[in-house]
Amino acid sequence: MARAYNFCAGPASLPEPVLEQARREMMDWQGKGLSVMEMSHRSDEMVGIASEAEKDLRELMGIPNDYAVLFLQGGATAQFSAIPLNLLRGRSSADYVVTGQWSKKALEEGKRYANANVVASSKDTNFSTIPAFDTWKLDPNAAYLHYTPNETIGGVEFFWTPDSGDVPLVADMSSTILSRPVDVTKFGLIYAGAQKNIGPAGLTIVIVRRDLLGKAHAMTPTIMDYQIQADNDSMYNTPPTYAWYLAGLVFKWLKTQGGLAGMEKVNRRKAGKLYDYIDNSGYYKNPVEVASRSLMNIPFTLPREELDKPFLKGAEARGLLNLKGHRSVGGMRASVYNAVPESAVDTLIEYMKDFASQNA
Ligand SMILES: *Cc1c(COP(=O)(O)O)cnc(C)c1O
Repeated sequence: MARAYNFCAGPASLPEPVLEQARREMMDWQGKGLSVMEMSHRSDEMVGIASEAEKDLRELMGIPNDYAVLFLQGGATAQFSAIPLNLLRGRSSADYVVTGQWSKKALEEGKRYANANVVASSKDTNFSTIPAFDTWKLDPNAAYLHYTPNETIGGVEFFWTPDSGDVPLVADMSSTILSRPVDVTKFGLIYAGAQKNIGPAGLTIVIVRRDLLGKAHAMTPTIMDYQIQADNDSMYNTPPTYAWYLAGLVFKWLKTQGGLAGMEKVNRRKAGKLYDYIDNSGYYKNPVEVASRSLMNIPFTLPREELDKPFLKGAEARGLLNLKGHRSVGGMRASVYNAVPESAVDTLIEYMKDFASQNA
């Protein structure tokens, strides 16, 4: 059976060599006579798989030893609550930057625990821009500054890192992690649900500076307490073992692709081609300011809404799947994560050209 090109925003494409290896190892992992899914999380085998994945992630992202790496459940959404519970550290307020729907959700959850202040928002441009840093109303006493480096729905990405001074910088990197190098030392905490660029749904990665641990609010659920998870190597309870194993395979694959610098090159080429085509087509449009256009999530519209359905139908017939935009914004969205090959983008552009000429 031929594999389609999958532009889903999440759960998203996985690298084919990873799926092939998982298939080979499904019934009998490395001669042990069982699947990774069937292993005790306390077994030497699973503990080995888990620590190897952490080692590879540390290497790929350059994560220093004064940061803990946690492999958790609950998605990025659980972190919207875990972050204030762990990082308020007796303070009453936290700063939030709102650049789209995910940062808004993080803010709303933050409000349950803290005086969550909106220090900057791009609402007045319908979230198609990033507010200039010199307009941000930062509070030097905030417990942390939260932002969303890539808005998965709006397709808006930061290509610079906010300078939060001594206030810990917290980033929801769910849809940009591993797409290009980042300087981890600029962050107090980085988190990401796995199902975009890391692996299957069900795993969430938290990278947190160790000096921020151990000060969780007393009512923090035990499994959400970063210190307890760090002390237990993310195995305080049963972790998502199979998702962790698959993430480990993705990290190994990334190392064969030239690491994150290698990925960035390919990702810039892929996104660049698609934006260039959209801009020059005189047919399709992307609403985002050029300097903040996401490398991972590329929304676009057709000249008339009634063309959406036939566009999607024709795409599917060519094996181009999941191009429908988020229900809240309409139009189309091509998510071109690490595992989406350049040939997928080329095929999509060919289809877009044909569709435009046949539906002028
Ligand atoms: C997908 C996504 C989320 C939600 O992740 P869940 O794992 O479903 O909780 C949050 N933030 C961003 C930026 C996302 O892309």
